[in-house]
Amino acid sequence: ETVTRFAPSPTGFLHIGGARTALFNWLYARGRGGKFLLRIEDTDRERSTPEATEAILKGMEWLGLDHDGDVISQFDRADRHREVALELLEAGKAYKCFATQDEIQAFRDAAKAEGKSTLFRSPWRDADPATHPDAPYVVRLKAPRDGATVIRDQVQGDVTIRNDQLDDLVLLRSDGTPVYMLAVVVDDHDMGVTHVIRGDDHLNNAARQMAIIEAMGWPVPVYAHIPLIHGPDGKKLSKRHGALGVEEYRDMGYPAAGMRNYLARLGWSHGDDEFFDDAQAKEWFDITGIGKSPARLDFKKMDNICGQHIAATEDAALLHELEGFLAATGRPALEPAKREMMLSAMPVLKERAKTFPELLDKAHFCLTDRPIGVEDKAAKNLTEDSRAWLSDLTPQLQSATWDRQTLEGLLNSFAEDRGLKFGQLAGPLRAALAGRAATPSVFDMMLVLGQEETLLRIGDAGA
Ligand code: GLU
Repeated sequence: ETVTRFAPSPTGFLHIGGARTALFNWLYARGRGGKFLLRIEDTDRERSTPEATEAILKGMEWLGLDHDGDVISQFDRADRHREVALELLEAGKAYKCFATQDEIQAFRDAAKAEGKSTLFRSPWRDADPATHPDAPYVVRLKAPRDGATVIRDQVQGDVTIRNDQLDDLVLLRSDGTPVYMLAVVVDDHDMGVTHVIRGDDHLNNAARQMAIIEAMGWPVPVYAHIPLIHGPDGKKLSKRHGALGVEEYRDMGYPAAGMRNYLARLGWSHGDDEFFDDAQAKEWFDITGIGKSPARLDFKKMDNICGQHIAATEDAALLHELEGFLAATGRPALEPAKREMMLSAMPVLKERAKTFPELLDKAHFCLTDRPIGVEDKAAKNLTEDSRAWLSDLTPQLQSATWDRQTLEGLLNSFAEDRGLKFGQLAGPLRAALAGRAATPSVFDMMLVLGQEETLLRIGDAGA
C-alpha cells in the first residue's frame, strides 16, 4: 500500500510551498488508493505554536486536502524516538559520547590548523564502556565511514554522498531529548510511509536519515525531493513577492479547486494539460512528471485557471463555496431571498469571474436593495429623454410574459420604433436596475430580478 505524508513544522501559516508539497503527497496517495497522513513536526518547542497548527489544519481543510487517521504530533512521540536510540545503543550501532563542547571545539580548531576535515571524530566511538565516566553524554550514531550513501531520488536522480563526509549524528541530547532527524525517521517508519515527497531543502537530511534507517535495518522509503517554488522574477520566494500564505488566497476569493489545479501544475506537468479536475489530477499525478528546476509563480495563470474552475462549477456548489468565502472573510451571510436570486443568477455570474469578489461585483444588481444607489457614471444615462422611454416602456413590461424571448422582442422593437440604438435604451435600464454603467446583460438582470422588482426599480428611476 502507498502511504505518503505531509509533515509541516507549525511555526507559521500554511505557505504556498507547503501547500504544494501537501497536494503532491495527497494526489500521489489518492490516485493509488493509498493513505495520506498528516504529522505535525512540533519538536521545536520554542518555535512551534498551537495557532500555527490550527492555521495549517484550516489551510488544508480549505484546500480540500483530507488526511487519513489522526493528526500525529511528533513531540508526543518523544518516548518512542528515545526507545529507538536506546535500541541502537544496545545493538552497538550507537554510542555514548562524553565529549564536552570545549573538547569538540578544540578538536575542530586543531583539525583546521592542520588543514584537515573539521568533522568531529569522537574518541568515544569505540571506547570500552568500562572506561565511561560518570558524566553527561549524548548518544551518537556510529555512522559508516567507508563507502558512500546513495539517495535514489526519483526527481533528482542518484545523489551520492561519501560517508567520510558525514559525522556521527547525535541521536539523543545530553538531557535525553531525541533530535529532529531521528524523530522523522522513526515516525516515517512507524507510520508506514512508503513515499517521502518533500522540498529539496531536505535532500541533505536524507543521507543522514538513511544512515539511521539502515542502522535499524528498516526499508528505505522512496524519496522525491521537489525543487522549491520561485517568485515570478525567478528568485527564491520571499515576502517581497506578496501573498505567501494559503489563507491569503482564500481571502482573495480564489476557489479551492482552482488553487489545487494551479498548484498541481506548479512543478509538475502532464503533457500540455493545464485545466483539469481532481479526478484527472489523481489519475495523472506521478513523480515522473515533476520537473527538476524550480517552478515560478505565475499569477496570470492562477487567475486564468481559477476562472475556468468557477465557470465549470455547478451552480449550487459554487453558491455554497461562495457562502464559505463570505463567512471566512467576515462578510454578511446571504438572506434566503438573496440566496435564491443568486442561485438563479449563477450561470450569468460565473462567466469570466476569476475570484469570488469579482463574482460578487457582478452580482451587485442582486445584492443591492431598493432604493438602489446610482453611480455617477450610470446616472448620466438617466436623462429626461431616457426616463420618458422607460416610462413608455413600463405598461408593455407590465403586460409582458416574463421570458427572454418576449423581453428581447419587446425591447428591440421598442428601440426600433423610436429610432434608438439598443445601447441607448440599455444604458438607462442598467442605471435603473443596477445603478451601474457596467452590468450583466439587461435581459439577464430582468429575468433574475423578476417582473415585479424590475418594474419597481424602473419606477424608482423616475420613469
Ligand atoms: N518539517 C519539515 C518542514 O516543514 C518537513 C520534514 C519532512 O518532510 O521530512 O520543512
